[in-house]
Amino acid sequence: MLDVMKIRQDFPMLNGTKMHGQPLIYFDNGATTLKPQCVIDAVCDYLTNYSGNAHRGDYDLSHDVDTQFEKTRKLVAQLINCDHHEVVYTYGSTDSLNLVAFGYGMTHLNKDDEILLTVAEHASNTLPWFEVCDTIGSVVKYIDLNEEGAVTLENVAKAITDKTKIISIAQVSNVLGFNAPIKEICKLAHEKGIIVCVDGAQSIPHQKVDVKDLDVDFLVFSGHKMCGSTGVGILYGKYNLLQETKPTRWGGGSNSRYKSCGLVKLKTAPAKFEAGTPNIEGVIGLGAAIEYLMAIGMDNIHQYELKLRQYAVEKLLELDNIEVYNPNSHGAIAFNIKGVFSQDGASLFNTHGIAIRAGQHCAKILDEFLGISQTLRASFYFYNTFEEIDKFIEVCKKGDDFLDAFFG
Ligand code: PMP
Repeated sequence: MLDVMKIRQDFPMLNGTKMHGQPLIYFDNGATTLKPQCVIDAVCDYLTNYSGNAHRGDYDLSHDVDTQFEKTRKLVAQLINCDHHEVVYTYGSTDSLNLVAFGYGMTHLNKDDEILLTVAEHASNTLPWFEVCDTIGSVVKYIDLNEEGAVTLENVAKAITDKTKIISIAQVSNVLGFNAPIKEICKLAHEKGIIVCVDGAQSIPHQKVDVKDLDVDFLVFSGHKMCGSTGVGILYGKYNLLQETKPTRWGGGSNSRYKSCGLVKLKTAPAKFEAGTPNIEGVIGLGAAIEYLMAIGMDNIHQYELKLRQYAVEKLLELDNIEVYNPNSHGAIAFNIKGVFSQDGASLFNTHGIAIRAGQHCAKILDEFLGISQTLRASFYFYNTFEEIDKFIEVCKKGDDFLDAFFG
């Protein structure tokens, strides 16, 4: 079990940071997470003591950078159970999904081929595919969600046709929070020669994910949603698929030799995707974050967060003035204070030091399914507590008399 009080000591922002004059209660972990001191120290250590470039120098300092930079790749491989050559550094989930869509999709799809998504996808897992389709005439189709908003194997099977070539879906939606049955989807897809790309932005930080066991073809995630800094992300790809994927950025570090146009010899994966100077401090910080998360244990994190969620949902459901849209899922809680515009609700929480997201959460085609255009979203991480949830529930109660609570 987690020692949450001890864990909270590791996060400077949980020890003194105030918002609107109140101690911060941070429930916007779906957007980004707070950083533990070990990550801050790792980034500062690089910037202070050995901030050379990576894979470019032949001196000791450069060797130190390379060692730390590549250490993170091995830690990622350990975290998701793959070979470290299958780990590509990117600038975040969005960048990784663009790489899959443009580097793999654009070169493997033909006119009329179908890509399956869901209406719950984040914009970063829809817009790149829309653009691919606009360019080459392939088609985006949607897997129906069940009545609760979950992806089911049955609905995936229904959506597959002879033309389906790629399925690209979130393992956990950033709004509805359901875990998709990825292992079963991969099995079904592979029987039909379909490639599966998994958006792990909201799953990798919160639960143990084993890419070999799931047999996913591509998986993406972001460092900043798992205690790392912004501007660094990961693309995992099966090695043969990475070799078939075309880089989307070209430049220094990715080629072994070139003479002229048409005579470029690229390095093998992952180097061929990593042109230009990377976010070195971000990569080193991500390594520290992964070590930190693995020491706590991904299963411990997941179990604790499920308990937090269950507790919060039970309390919310007791309130007449609150509507919860996804009581039975596993991730973020989507809700509204009845009769209160979600952004006004977020302002109310803000006045109590509680960070809650409001709006569409970048899932802009989900509104038709939900039947509302905006929600509030509470998303927890393992450093949140039951006491914080109690305070949050007290503020939810005030939403009943919104104007008095806000302006009173
Ligand atoms: N997919 C999902 C499910 C997300 O929640 C997010 C971030 N909100 C992204 C993709 C994009 O991540 P990033 O902004 O780090 O590229």
